Parts: sequence; C-alpha cells; structure tokens
Amino acid sequence: MLKPSTPLVELHLHEIPRVAMKTAQKLAAAVAANISAAAPRDATVGDLIHYLPMRYEDRSNLTRISGLTHGEYATVEVEVRVAGTYPVKGGKLRIFEFSAVDRTGQIRAFWWNQAYLQKTLIRGARVLLYGQWKRGRRGSFEVENPDYELLADEDGSADAIHTGRRVPVYRKLGDIRTKQLRSIMHYTLSMLDMSRMKELLPGDLIARNTLIPRSEAYRQIHFPAEDAPIELYNLMQSPAHRRLIFEEFFWLVLAVGLRKQGREESPKGTVIETGDRVRNAVRRVLPFKPTGAQKRVLREIVNDMTGPKPMNRLLQGDVGSGKTIVAVQAAVVAIENGYQTALMAPTEILAEQHSRTIKHILAKSPYRVELLTGSLGSARKRELYEAAASGEADLMIGTHALIQEGVRFHKLGFVIIDEQHRFGVLQRAELMKRGYNPDVLVMTATPIPRSLAMTVYGDLDVSIIDEMPPGRKPVVTKVRGEDARARIYRFLDQIIQQGRQVYIVYPLVEESEKLDLLAATQMAERLRTEIFPQHEIVLVHGKMKQDEKDRAMEEFRSGAAKIMVATTVIEVGVDVPNASVMVIEHAERFGLSQLHQLRGRVGRGDEQAYCILLAGDKRTSEARERLAIMEETNDGFRIAEKDMELRGPGEMMGTRQSGIPAFKIGNLVRDHAVLESVKREVDLLLTTQQNTREFARLVEVVKKQPKYRLASIG
Ligand code: ADP
Ligand code: MG
Repeated sequence: MLKPSTPLVELHLHEIPRVAMKTAQKLAAAVAANISAAAPRDATVGDLIHYLPMRYEDRSNLTRISGLTHGEYATVEVEVRVAGTYPVKGGKLRIFEFSAVDRTGQIRAFWWNQAYLQKTLIRGARVLLYGQWKRGRRGSFEVENPDYELLADEDGSADAIHTGRRVPVYRKLGDIRTKQLRSIMHYTLSMLDMSRMKELLPGDLIARNTLIPRSEAYRQIHFPAEDAPIELYNLMQSPAHRRLIFEEFFWLVLAVGLRKQGREESPKGTVIETGDRVRNAVRRVLPFKPTGAQKRVLREIVNDMTGPKPMNRLLQGDVGSGKTIVAVQAAVVAIENGYQTALMAPTEILAEQHSRTIKHILAKSPYRVELLTGSLGSARKRELYEAAASGEADLMIGTHALIQEGVRFHKLGFVIIDEQHRFGVLQRAELMKRGYNPDVLVMTATPIPRSLAMTVYGDLDVSIIDEMPPGRKPVVTKVRGEDARARIYRFLDQIIQQGRQVYIVYPLVEESEKLDLLAATQMAERLRTEIFPQHEIVLVHGKMKQDEKDRAMEEFRSGAAKIMVATTVIEVGVDVPNASVMVIEHAERFGLSQLHQLRGRVGRGDEQAYCILLAGDKRTSEARERLAIMEETNDGFRIAEKDMELRGPGEMMGTRQSGIPAFKIGNLVRDHAVLESVKREVDLLLTTQQNTREFARLVEVVKKQPKYRLASIG
C-alpha cells in the first residue's frame, strides 16, 4: 500500500495503486506536459487532481422503465437480457438489438448497422441508455440508436461515477478521454485520505472568507454533491471553485507583496539630491513646454529618487503621451548626481529611435549617450563595454544587449525599461543586478488593468500621464472589408498628394512567419509596380539586415518615401509626425492593444489622422465586434480592459515571456471579486502579521514553490 510518510498529493502517478501501469505512464506523461514547462518535474497526484473539469453534466435524473412516457427523451439504467444481430431489407442492412430490464419493466433497444456492439453489449451487461422512447408493438418501450454508456467496470462501482449524479466532463488529457479520466479521478480521490491533505492557508483567513476546506474543495470540484447547484459549477463559481481560486491568487499576491517589501528593505544604492544646479540642468533639456501631467509624474519620480527607498515605479501613459522626455529628465537627475543610466528597449528599432531622439534632446548637454545593440560589430561592442565600465557613458541605451554577460557599469544608479510588457520579470532583474539596487522606472503604453496591477505589477508604484500634448486630434478609425480596397487606395493617393505619408502594416504571426513575410514582400512589390508606381515605397521587416532597415527608415523619415510597408516592427518606436494614415491588413489577427499601439504611430502631427482596419472577407462576428471598439474609442485603457476580457491577460500583454503567470483555475477578469478579497487579506498580513510564526510559515510556503520563486525575484 502507500508509504504513509509521503503526503498523498506528492505521490507520483505510477504509485497510485490499481491504475494499470500503461495507463499510469500515459497519465503521468500527459499530466507532466500540462505542468508549467518552466519547471519540468514528475507529475504527482496533486497535479492530477489539479486537472479540473471543463464543465459538468447533470445525470442525476434517471428514469425507471415504468416511468417512461411515449415520445420523451430519458435515461434509463438497465441490464441486457437477450441480444442479437439479424439482417433486414434483403440482407443489405443489419440490426443489432437487445432486450433489457430494470426492476420495473422491460425495454427494447436497437441500432442500425452497428453489429460491433454485440461484442460489448452482451447478456448481463449493465447499460445506460439515453434516447427518445416510443411505445412498441407489444406495449413495451423501445428506443432507436440511443446513446449508451456501458456501466460494467471490474469493481462494479462504476455506476456511481458516470451516471445518476452530477458528472465532471474533462478535456482530453493526452489520449486519455473524459470517461477514463473520470474513473481515475474518482478512484484517486476516494483513495486519498483527504484528512491528510494539509491546509496551507491561515485558519482565521479561511474562516473570515468562509472558504471550504481544501480537501473538500478538491472532492467537490470533481464530483459535485447530490444537491449542488450545477449552474454555479458550470460558471466556475461554486464554493469549491472559489476556494481553489482564492488559494491560487493568494500565493501569487503574497509573493509579489514580499518581493516589493524585500526591495524596499534592502538599502538603497544611490544618494540623489536636487539642488538648483540639478534643477536647471533638467529644465535646460526640455524642447517644449511639458504638460501638467508630465510635470506631475516627473515630480513623483524625482521624489522616489531622492527618497530613502529604491524607486520601483511604473510610468503608464498612452501612446504619444510623451513618456520619453520624462524619462530623459529623470536620467539627467541621476547623471547630474554622478550616476549612469541604462535604458532598455525591446527592439532594435525602438532602441535606435530612442537613441536618435534622446541624442537630439541632449545635443547641447555635456552627457555622453551611447547605443548598444546586438547587431553591432564586436570591436564597437568592446568600446561600448569599456565606456560603460569606466563610467564615461552617462546614458546607455540598448536592447537585450545591455544584459549580456560582458556588460558592467561603473556606477549604474538608474534603470529605465521601456514597454515593460515585452520583458519578463527576470530581464528586469538582470538589468537591476548591474547596479547596486538602482532606481527602476518601467514605462508602458499598455494600460495595466487593475487586476494585473494588483498581482503581477503589484510591486510597482504607478504614475500615470493622463493628458496628451496639446493639439492632438483623435485618430479617426474605420473597419473596412476587402470590397473597399480600391477606394482605400484612392484615398491614400489623395493623402500623399497633400504631402502626407502612409503606413501599411502587415501582421506577422509567429506560426506562419515565413508566409506572412512573403505576403508583405509581395504586397510591397505590387504596390510599387501596379498601384502606386508614381510614389516611392519602402519595406521594413524584422528579418532585414540592420543597414537595410536603417536606410529604409531614413528614407521614410526624410519624406522621400511616401509609403512604408511594414510588419509589426514599427509597433513601437517609429516617430514620423508627417505620417497621417495607417492601413492595417488582416486587422482581425491583431490583439486590440496591439492595434492601439500601432495606431498611435499616426496622429502625431497637426493633421487629422486616419487608421483603416482591413479585416478581409473572413470576418467573423466576434472579430467585427472586437474591431468595432477601435472605431469607438481612442482610450487605451478601455481598449486594454476589453482586450483582457477577450483574450486573457497573458495574451494581451504579449507572449509567454511576459512574466504573467498562467492561472490554472482563476481568471483575473471573471474572478476579480475573489482577487479583491485576496488582496485585502495579503495587505492585512503584510501590515499586521509580520512578526508572527504564522507569517514565517507562509513565507516558507512561497519560497518552496518554483513558480512563486520566479515572482519574487527582484
Ligand atoms: P510615448 O509616450 O508614446 O513614448 P513620446 O515620448 O514618443 O510618446 O512622445 C510623442 C511625441 O510627442 C514626440 O514627438 C514628442 O516630442 C512629443 N511631445 C511629448 N511631450 C510633448 C509636449 N509637452 N509638447 C509637445 N510635444 C510633446
Ligand atoms: Mg515611447
């Protein structure tokens, strides 16, 4: 039997008694594949019972044969008596039929051309039949082609699992189907001594939030009780669901809270002051009058920098709201205090754009600004490493190249990360490591919905630029189908005649990157030769060589090229105010937040700007509804909320490396009420329980779990 010393949920799957070896192995492989790929390990019983039903079916209402009504659908449970196959219609068809009984009567069931059934539905078999019942010739009921479920399992207890109750329906796990999984789950749960399943949450918290015991939650979530409200289960809002979701959120929110606290308690590596000299230097670099919002957020940032705790701040502002200048001013504060600043951007194009803009802004200053990207030659890279290590470079702008092995800083006091959602928590940590607990400013144009702000970003203070630079007009957005293409081209021609420029964007979808790239290239060619032979057109995509890219960008920036055909590489960072129209091909393939980012590339000048979302012919109504939001609003926050609702947080924030944990049960949108309760509890713990033994225990639990260890880096 089971080793009593192993907690049951830690048992490996092949150790579950009486599950056949082959099944156990298949099961173990499938469950393991379902565990986070980030931390592979053997699958345990705990993992198995964490594989939850996708929905529930109410099969609790069995009808007795004596209770059947002519013409009605019903399920009966019967035992097969006489079964046989015979030909009909001159031998062209075969009928398999049996008669069967329950305690109240006899019925007949038959199938056309399914003779193989005679192998399983044999005399003595217990079967569940579901179909439309009719009164037959001799007065007894019969059913044609019913759904059936064989109840004969070796131990005879199967009937308690698959029928006569609310049953769980699982998504196929590997090649194990719902019925077999249901049996294994049932058996495993009945074998587990649930009293040995430890509660990890504090008792008073459980009581305050009226959570059911953990063991009970697992049992019920798989096999809802007799009188359980099945609707709540199907909405994933039963007490069992709530309990497990609560716990899932709890550990993450606690981990993030601890990370924040850890950062705040470790001594700050910098001493920053803002005398008249610093203030004048900051003012001198301003190329324009800052908006009220820009002034306010700069004050918040400088307050942190001069304060006793290391800054850990998120600067959130819609596309085009002017985050760059704020970051530059903050960098000037650091530099004037003798510290270096590093600015990390997710793409080379964005890093270059920053470098160009910032060098321009700081042209008259004494500061040395350098650009470090992966595509530089190794000699140049070595020079830049040296400039960083000696402290000669005051502001180092770059891509991931900034966190490569050889990069050292003399005195890195300030770290800026642009478009945070492209980086994982780990990369943030990598850059921070290069300074001694430096101030960190994370910039994002994607508004962080409150639920994410509370969890993944819960360790960041937030500053928001909620005001656009003067003179901006909202971009007029239209969703159009293929039939409008000719008209759109005429419109583009008009715009170009008026001296403006145009973007045409192609999506690059990871799975079909090559094909998409081909499509973009061919389109550029067609536009050049057939549609706009009179205008110069450039093509930019991520697979181009750096100097090719540079040349194309420069041609567009200078106004020589009128049209830029691009893949999403321009999503962030291109700043050409004269471009006033953007056409987005296959718009239905983009997420809303991404569309919003793209759209932000136009409308930077004084002209009215337009964004045309071409949605092809295969527009589904869901896609259309989605895109309609883009027509309705320019409010990035509303768009982000909607996007998250439709696609889930991980997708919305872009890619797997976003550092956003995939919740197994919880859903940040659906379960926001649970999240609020969790947040309240964690705040309470962090403010009042710090010195208790219970708190120390909770910290240990967090530390032991790999996925929370990731969250608490930093
Ligand atoms: P984002 O927040 O998207 O990074 P940027 O910092 O690139 O926005 O600013 C967008 C554009 O607005 C830039 O061309 C910048 O020079 C301009 N800008 C920013 N702030 C102001 C301001 N206060 N007045 C006028 N123009 C501004
Ligand atoms: Mg920006």
